[in-house]
Parts: sequence; C-alpha cells; structure tokens
Amino acid sequence: MNTTTRARETGTLVSVYDTINDGEEVWVTYCEEHGQSVDHQTKSLAIRHRSNPTGWCSECYASAPNPERREFSVSVGTLQFVPVAHFTLSAPNKTHARKLALQVLERIKADNGVSLRLLSVKEADGE
Ligand SMILES: [Zn+2]
Repeated sequence: MNTTTRARETGTLVSVYDTINDGEEVWVTYCEEHGQSVDHQTKSLAIRHRSNPTGWCSECYASAPNPERREFSVSVGTLQFVPVAHFTLSAPNKTHARKLALQVLERIKADNGVSLRLLSVKEADGE
C-alpha cells in the first residue's frame, strides 16, 4: 500500500508506506520532499501523522510558519569540567525543543568533532 497526500500544514507531499521489517509489518510516514520518515506499528497512527509533518520532519518544521512557537533556553556542556554553554531556540513545546536541541548538538559534533551533551531545556519566558 502507498498513499501520498499533500499535507495541509506545509504543502509538502507525505506518503504512508507499508513495509515488512524483520518479519513485522511496519507503517512508515514518509516526507517525499525531505526524505525523512517515522515508523509506526499501526496504519492509523501512520495516517494520523501524515497531516502534520512538522512534528517529525525537521526540514518541514524549519520551513513552516508557526506563530505558536515559544522560546526555549538550552544548556549544554561537555564533560563535568567544562563550563556550561547556553543557546535559545524556538519550538511549540518542550518535547519538540528538546528534540531540536539534540539535532543541533549532533550538527555541532559533526562539524567540530566535539562532544556536547544536553543539560537542560527550559522555557525562556517565566523562568
Ligand atoms: Zn519534510
């Protein structure tokens, strides 16, 4: 089975695929434009994720206008002897902010060969 629709949220083409992985049926929601995907155990879950690619495709997320984004401050450090560093990012919620922060750290690590770890994610307002 393969169905492709245009996500109302972003206008990008998103597909649901049915595959077999290690003998188990897996339903994959796939962003045709950016090549990112997320696996699900059921068809209904896969279809439910088809309409909101900003929730699982980082490229869709980065390109979508989203007035509900909030600012989060992120603290990172390397090992315990190195000072903590901070940066801010915007996301609709803390879970998403944490996911984005981890992606940022991966990028920094890939570019500079340094190892950073996430210490905390806090909403910038109200702290
Ligand atoms: Zn995408």
